[in-house]
Amino acid sequence: MNDGFFSGITHQNLEQDFKLLKAALDASVTGIIITDNGLPDNPIIYCNKAFEDMTGYQRSEIIGRNCRFLQKDDREQAARYQLGEAVANGNDAVVEIRNYKKDGTLFWNELYLSPIYNDNGQLTYFVGVQHDITLRKRAEEELKANQAEMEQRVEDRTRSLREKEEYLSSIFETIRESLMVLSPELKVLTVNHDFIKTFKVSKEETEGKQLYELGNGQWDIPELRRLLEQVLPTNNPVVDFEVSHDFPHIGKKLMLLNAHRIELEGEYKDRILIAIEDITDKREIEQRKDDFLSIASHELKTPLTTVKGYVQVMDKLVAKTGDEKLHNAIEKTSVYIDRLNNLITELLDVSRIQSGKFKIYKEPFSFDNMVQNAVNSLHQASPSHHINVIGETGIEIVGDEAHLEQVMINLLSNAIKYSPDEKEVDVQLSVVSNFVKVSVSDKGLGISREEQKRIFDRFYRVGNIQQKFPGMGIGLYICSEIIKNHGGNLWVESEPGKGSSFSFTLPLTKSDLEEDAK
Ligand code: ADP
Repeated sequence: MNDGFFSGITHQNLEQDFKLLKAALDASVTGIIITDNGLPDNPIIYCNKAFEDMTGYQRSEIIGRNCRFLQKDDREQAARYQLGEAVANGNDAVVEIRNYKKDGTLFWNELYLSPIYNDNGQLTYFVGVQHDITLRKRAEEELKANQAEMEQRVEDRTRSLREKEEYLSSIFETIRESLMVLSPELKVLTVNHDFIKTFKVSKEETEGKQLYELGNGQWDIPELRRLLEQVLPTNNPVVDFEVSHDFPHIGKKLMLLNAHRIELEGEYKDRILIAIEDITDKREIEQRKDDFLSIASHELKTPLTTVKGYVQVMDKLVAKTGDEKLHNAIEKTSVYIDRLNNLITELLDVSRIQSGKFKIYKEPFSFDNMVQNAVNSLHQASPSHHINVIGETGIEIVGDEAHLEQVMINLLSNAIKYSPDEKEVDVQLSVVSNFVKVSVSDKGLGISREEQKRIFDRFYRVGNIQQKFPGMGIGLYICSEIIKNHGGNLWVESEPGKGSSFSFTLPLTKSDLEEDAK
């Protein structure tokens, strides 16, 4: 036996026992070393096989060296100081230390250091038991790195969400319309600055309250309840719902309410955004405008009727004198008076439609004749254009002949007015199923898709035409009201630069059809 630590043992049985012990240590998968504290620099005097495997050194390269040779140049490790202290004080220590194999590869060593004392209580040896924990360390480091990355991502995401929230909330607060957000149970979650200003309430009076319990129950309206509770959940928005109410603090107001359900998953799911617009002043101004229109057109109409009467008297008197020149002048005056009269009648029609006083008087008449009369009057007024009537209905319908002729005259005069360089206008007549249908087509300016949606609105005119084409933008509005009042439909098909086609259909009653079948 010449294995350092074991070599001094001579007793036969003991030697046997130690051989067994040494074999057992060599069989261990745990690296084990013993250092001799009594020798200078505490050298390794024993290492087992597992330690050789762990470090890549052979016993002959290990025995006699201080353990530090395993750290190579990697000296600045806290674990080293811990070990130093344990050795100096003769204590236990457990450290995780970076060591290097013979080929330079790093391995993490989990080292249990225990002092051994002799019978005199003298520190003689240290036993070091070690495990290669590189894999565990690596896994721990990876975990740490992953955790750090995750934390970074969460932080980034939180920051970006916070920024988005601040961004949205600044829009929400800046918007000059009252906004409120409700929970799916119709509890107020947030209101914006404009809401507080408009309704003269505090956030505390509003947020957290049930919508119907706000103020003096101004939003507790059966129809609004139905829209919010039954229509909104089907993903249909509440559009322009008018609420007229004597609101606390602000008095009688007319509010326009729009509500949308927020279709998001998660925290914001099914929240409801309500926008409230105070239209009291706007409505009042509109009303005043309508009143003015009504008064002005009435006031203009009366003297004009008197003027027309005098002109007729003058015409009769002049006829007796035989003065041609004077007669022509009076004829022209009469034409302009009629034109002025028509304009005023149109304005009166608009104000009657607005006030619900527009009346339709229905009587049977020949549809084709009515169309022909309109065509004839336009032939006279605008001889430059040629109007082709194509087809016929052969039908006598029940309707307001004068107003339907007004529709035809409006469509024809528009077709002529808005096609100054094209001289042909077509009028197509037909019977489609149980409807009569008329189309007035020109090859003039045409109308863009966007404008097509608006030309039937009152006082709407396509931009930039005012200089070139006079008009008030009410003809089509009146036409569509007249056709609506007959249960019919008026529409336009058009392409800019190619021309327009305005068509309307009127439903035929059973009696219209029976009458014509005779
Ligand atoms: P007005 O002709 O007095 O402006 P209308 O209500 O009859 O009023 O027509 C509304 C607008 O529709 C017109 O200003 C014009 O821009 C457009 N429009 C109507 N008819 C035609 C047409 N046949 N071709 C092109 N634009 C038309």
